[in-house]
Amino acid sequence: MLVGVLFALLLTNFDWGASFIGDWIKPFGTIFISSLKLIAIPLILAALIKGISDLKDISSLSKMGMRTISIYVITTVIAVSIGLTVVSLIQPGKTINENTRNELVEAYGGDADAKLQAAAAQKDAGPLQALIDLVPSNIVNAASSNRNMLQVIFFAVFFGISLILIPEEKAKTVKEFFDGLNEVILKMVDLIMLAAPYGVFALMAALVVEAPSADLFAALGMYAVSVVFGLLLMVVFYIVLVKVFTKKSPKFFLNGIAPAQLLAFSTSSSAATLPVTMERVTEHLGVEEEVSSFVLPIGATINMDGTSLYQAVAAVFIAQAFGMDLSFATQLGIIATATLASIGSAAVPGAGMVMLVGVLGYAGIPEAGLALIFAVDRPLDMCRTVINVTGDATVSMLVAKSQGKLGDPKVKNWDDTYNK
Ligand code: ASP
Repeated sequence: MLVGVLFALLLTNFDWGASFIGDWIKPFGTIFISSLKLIAIPLILAALIKGISDLKDISSLSKMGMRTISIYVITTVIAVSIGLTVVSLIQPGKTINENTRNELVEAYGGDADAKLQAAAAQKDAGPLQALIDLVPSNIVNAASSNRNMLQVIFFAVFFGISLILIPEEKAKTVKEFFDGLNEVILKMVDLIMLAAPYGVFALMAALVVEAPSADLFAALGMYAVSVVFGLLLMVVFYIVLVKVFTKKSPKFFLNGIAPAQLLAFSTSSSAATLPVTMERVTEHLGVEEEVSSFVLPIGATINMDGTSLYQAVAAVFIAQAFGMDLSFATQLGIIATATLASIGSAAVPGAGMVMLVGVLGYAGIPEAGLALIFAVDRPLDMCRTVINVTGDATVSMLVAKSQGKLGDPKVKNWDDTYNK
């Protein structure tokens, strides 16, 4: 990561530097992300079907499902509340003067339009649209886009449940097939991860040369600091949760999940990171596959604590920059809308910003404000994705603990020695 940044900074001193990186370095980053995304859908299918069919009966599934969803919603609501508190205390919007505001709106108005259009498509939807979207009408179509991960999850859960319900001798072959498929895909993750250092190098180098000017960054400094500070508080919150409920040390937890965090940071996508999150949580944090294969894919799509926190901070920041005061009731509404918006955000780069439009619309904050925060959205996206992934890992440990499925890590390494 660091070498990528330094390399790009060095090359920007030459006229040809940026285009060299764009033509010859960036493609390797793109290939790396594509290969991770490539296995996201097959991984969900294989892991979820295997995980559910390993369960002995439906009641343990519904118990685990209820627990998972409730903890996800609770952590998200806490994240939004932390975001609101931080942004009200730091008040980053008050530091933006009118000139800077106009400058930013002018510079990024066009880019923001694209996000607004994407959001407009969502706006016409009725109240039950999310439920309608959950059920695909064609599984091949659904599996053809990483944006439809929830539909694939729906299919896999449905399939897994049906597999438990048929006689064992009939289910045997199908189950063995998915067990094997799961192994193959986990091996693919291992192989792709061999290329991770090079992929991450390329991604970081490309990001640096494409970043906007430093002046605009500086203007948004306090806003970015507020988001990052809130996100750091979330890390502390997760560490406390893990310590209190599973008795695992912060060092054990952070060492176990760190590679997934680094990948989340460099890809800005929880979906692309999912294969590695699964591997780390199962092999290094001791969560049994039965639990991780159920909790993590669902978490990657619906549990986005980092995103919800960011949406709360961004909404209030924009309101402050436009000189609006938000009532207490509106702030409560922001908690509800940001929670829903983060559930609805796809696990891909920039998705949180599209869904932010819904929060702004609800609170009556000018949508043009999107242009204000555009310049720093990518770096913040990288940070919030780290939290999204860390939150999923935390919840998987809590659920595993409550189901008696949190054991010793399979991989014996330095982390475990330390933990003992
Ligand atoms: N990039 C985030 C993720 O994949 C979503 C977002 O906040 O834009 O988790």
